[in-house]
Amino acid sequence: MIEKTGVATIEMIKSKFPKKEVLTRPKAIIECYTEIPCNPCSTSCPFDAIYIGKDINQIPRIDFDKCTGCSSCISACPGLAIMVAMIKDGKAYFKIPYELLPLPVRGEKWTALNRYGRVLDKPCFIENVMVTKKNDKTAIVTVSIEQPYLYEFVTVGKKL
Ligand code: SF4
Ligand code: SF4
Repeated sequence: MIEKTGVATIEMIKSKFPKKEVLTRPKAIIECYTEIPCNPCSTSCPFDAIYIGKDINQIPRIDFDKCTGCSSCISACPGLAIMVAMIKDGKAYFKIPYELLPLPVRGEKWTALNRYGRVLDKPCFIENVMVTKKNDKTAIVTVSIEQPYLYEFVTVGKKL
């Protein structure tokens, strides 16, 4: 399926998430499905939570016990394949990489997109935007959306 569409199936997506009890704290979701020679996610993690091993082609594995949700790996990934997710009070919160301009602004309402680029029925809300000197080309945008969209949301579309 992913070979034909370029989009992961819902089973593949869910396999990258921890159990919902674990997601009450922020955890990195690494949607890297293909063996490629790449490892900055692993080397950028200050908590050794991402393991690739000696063979750089291996798909990264994450130890959710070690992951603090610090988000360092998000902007380190050249494939924009990592986000941090959390659930709280019926909402899903995501920290996502964002490289387009203009950047979203805290407090705005934006359309939410799924992995096919389709607009979801509900909007999302911009909770925070972080641009650091180290990662000035890849902002980290924190958004919230209703929890049922936990496995569907992937990024923001346009300002409403
Ligand atoms: S969010 Fe932080 S702790 Fe978790 S895997 Fe990424 S870099 Fe490591
Ligand atoms: S840095 Fe990104 S693309 Fe590279 S192995 Fe890690 S998750 Fe995959």
